[in-house]
Amino acid sequence: MKKVRVRFAPSPTGGLHLGGVRTALFNFLFARQHNGTFVLRVEDTDQNRFVEGAEQYIWDCLDWCGILPDEAPLAPGECGPYRQSERKGIYMQYAQQLVDSGHAYYAFDTAEEIENLRESLKAQGESDWQYGFHTRHRMRNSLTMTKEETEALLSADFPHVIRLKVEGNEMIRFKDMIRGDIEMSTNTVDDKVLMKADGMPTYHLAVVVDDYLMKITNAFRGEEWLPSAPVHVLLWKYFGWEKDMPEWAHLPLILKPDGNGKLSKRDGERLGFPVFAMQWKDTAGKAVDGFKEMGFLPEAFINMLALLGWNDGTEQEVFSLEELVQKFSMDRVHSHGAKFDFEKAKWFNHEWIKRLPSKELADRVAPFMQHAGIETGDKNTFVKIIDLVKDRCTLLPDFIKQAAFFFRAPQHLNLEAVKPKWNDDKNNFFVALIHSWQMMQEWKHDELEINFKEIAAASRLKPGELLFPLRIMLVGDKFGPGVFDIIMLIGKEETLQRVSKALQLLK
Ligand code: GLU
Repeated sequence: MKKVRVRFAPSPTGGLHLGGVRTALFNFLFARQHNGTFVLRVEDTDQNRFVEGAEQYIWDCLDWCGILPDEAPLAPGECGPYRQSERKGIYMQYAQQLVDSGHAYYAFDTAEEIENLRESLKAQGESDWQYGFHTRHRMRNSLTMTKEETEALLSADFPHVIRLKVEGNEMIRFKDMIRGDIEMSTNTVDDKVLMKADGMPTYHLAVVVDDYLMKITNAFRGEEWLPSAPVHVLLWKYFGWEKDMPEWAHLPLILKPDGNGKLSKRDGERLGFPVFAMQWKDTAGKAVDGFKEMGFLPEAFINMLALLGWNDGTEQEVFSLEELVQKFSMDRVHSHGAKFDFEKAKWFNHEWIKRLPSKELADRVAPFMQHAGIETGDKNTFVKIIDLVKDRCTLLPDFIKQAAFFFRAPQHLNLEAVKPKWNDDKNNFFVALIHSWQMMQEWKHDELEINFKEIAAASRLKPGELLFPLRIMLVGDKFGPGVFDIIMLIGKEETLQRVSKALQLLK
């Protein structure tokens, strides 16, 4: 058995979309499960689409998700370099090998000549034109020209590309780990460009050469690459590397929540949810927040992604990364697209907020609090606060509202909610309460509660009617954990100050 080697091969062209992270995740899970190696290869041969900073961003996203690769441009192994632009010198010899064996040819057609042919075929009623076995004999290439003519153009550096020579009327068969046996006719495949006029390989040539040289055993990628698979299978065959061809798996598309079609960045803007893992700043400097900035835990994000297209066959939905490594299997990935559901994504986050130890959670929440101008202070106290409010939080910024009043008196008190039932008896009760609590030697939960009930009984008032105004006085509104838990944490001085201030306002 060969040692498993998988690769995630993004092009550094922008923010890392949900679908890209899921591809990386499935690669990571498969590699860990088989004690294999997870490779990150940066496919940056398309200079027009290259975006500065995108590679580092991809690395940072994988780091945040906890699924860093074993080999990558930033963590080189034995099969480097891991950026295709740095492998530039490798590809020509392989393209040349195909020309020599008759599987590829030089094409000298100018853009204008190609356009002319397109027009003339269109005039004859042929609209889906392609440069292939039907048309190449009418074009200016090394198949239609003499050897001398070809050589003359090559030595004069006449701009040219190298194209794959795809034979017509052949069936291409391969196995997909998700989709089973796949059969496609070569008639749908055009003579793909392998080497561009600028001396750079195209994606098709580079992906096959690199998968071969990097000893990739399993190639997982999005369903949108399925139409390219026959080209790649042909290349593996023409190179004579068939027995080393990786096993393919084309992962299902992630679909829009409403309607059909692939989830796009615009759907996120339209429906108000992120589609990137982390904040991405485009070249114009416009920043788009990702799941991280929205307050998702990476545990939840990964868990949600794994279930977009996969399940373990039981009702279980919450999985840790370790569990996913154990339970994931490609044959349980669906072939049909998976609808993205933002409400479900939030549900996963809530579940993970509840599950994560409060001590750990406190570290994740602290930056959000600080961003809102709240210094979280003593860690032990902060952990207690997190413990009290975490059941009420879905996204990390929810902690700001749920916990702010522990650190500072509420700026606004919703006294309108208290006033309709406010009266002298209640006022007197709180005056007595302040007095009694001022005298207390020790600030203890149970004693405070007993004392509160005793004073209420003496005032002939029900504790329930008094707890509500007390909550408003301390929290500012109708939410939050148990009132006595709050009182314990904010302490004597702060409690008495908040109650006195509210009494003034209620007068
Ligand atoms: N560079 C391609 C992409 O951006 C890789 C596709 C593949 O994995 O073959 O998705």
